Amino acid sequence: MAQRYALMITPADATDTRTDYSETFTPVDVAAPALSVGELSTQRGDGVFESIGVIDGHPNEVEAHVQRLAHSARLCDLPAPNLAQWRQAVAVAAAQAPEGEGVVKLILSRGVENGPAPTAWVTASTAPDYTRVRREGVRVVTLDRGYDLGAGERAPWLLLGAKTLSYAVNMAALREAHRRGADDAIFVTRDGDVLEAPTASLIIRSGDEFITTAPSAGILHGTTQLAVFEYLEAQGLRTRYATLSTADLMGADAAWLVSSIRLAVAITAIDGEPLASDAALTAELNTFLLSPR
Ligand code: PLP
Repeated sequence: MAQRYALMITPADATDTRTDYSETFTPVDVAAPALSVGELSTQRGDGVFESIGVIDGHPNEVEAHVQRLAHSARLCDLPAPNLAQWRQAVAVAAAQAPEGEGVVKLILSRGVENGPAPTAWVTASTAPDYTRVRREGVRVVTLDRGYDLGAGERAPWLLLGAKTLSYAVNMAALREAHRRGADDAIFVTRDGDVLEAPTASLIIRSGDEFITTAPSAGILHGTTQLAVFEYLEAQGLRTRYATLSTADLMGADAAWLVSSIRLAVAITAIDGEPLASDAALTAELNTFLLSPR
């Protein structure tokens, strides 16, 4: 994902009410060094981020993403981001995104150790081409996440539900899925309850209902899942949050992984067992997700 544009941000206080933050933005050369070697928090993954899908220069679901950035920052005890500043930064970066599908990334890290302020920046880049996977779907394997449904509440320092920069575990799960001959993974609790994929939310269809794991399970509340549920409800379809077991997933009539950049991809097999997919509905969901929102 070659970066085309990057903007360093001097974070404004959340109480700052100015209407124009341009003087807090500094465009930087994407090929040149921009972070201090002392940027320990980035090395430790001690920060939060968001990836926003951009279609022909239009960033989708900006409000849901900046709100989740604030939620993640709160869980990590980072200073509250100034959302007006981030909205403006997103608009500036999205205007630099390429034609077609792009990504605007928001990063807020704790910054230099003992430093005065968090480090913040946004980038704009071309999105990978997901056309084929949207058409053909993905084979998944279930992987043990090693905790139970109560872990998020019992151990808030695990930061479950925050979109932190620490994605090493998620990337390791993807590599394990590839080793097992699959394209993607679905995390399950040690009791066999279904959570989410390493970079996507899970939605299943069971009869005439669309169901996703409740965010209280210690998963990221996906902006794409929220948008898809709104879309389905507007079509008169039923949606629900629930605790889902591996058996519910294996017995689903159809299932999808949904996320901001790859959008909706059908699950075609789980742990080597084929799963029926609904190509027409998948295409319809992607048409919706590719539209300006
Ligand atoms: N769950 C995890 C762990 C993710 O990393 C992501 C996206 O990166 C999602 C769910 C889907 O979130 P969204 O739809 O907001 O992209």
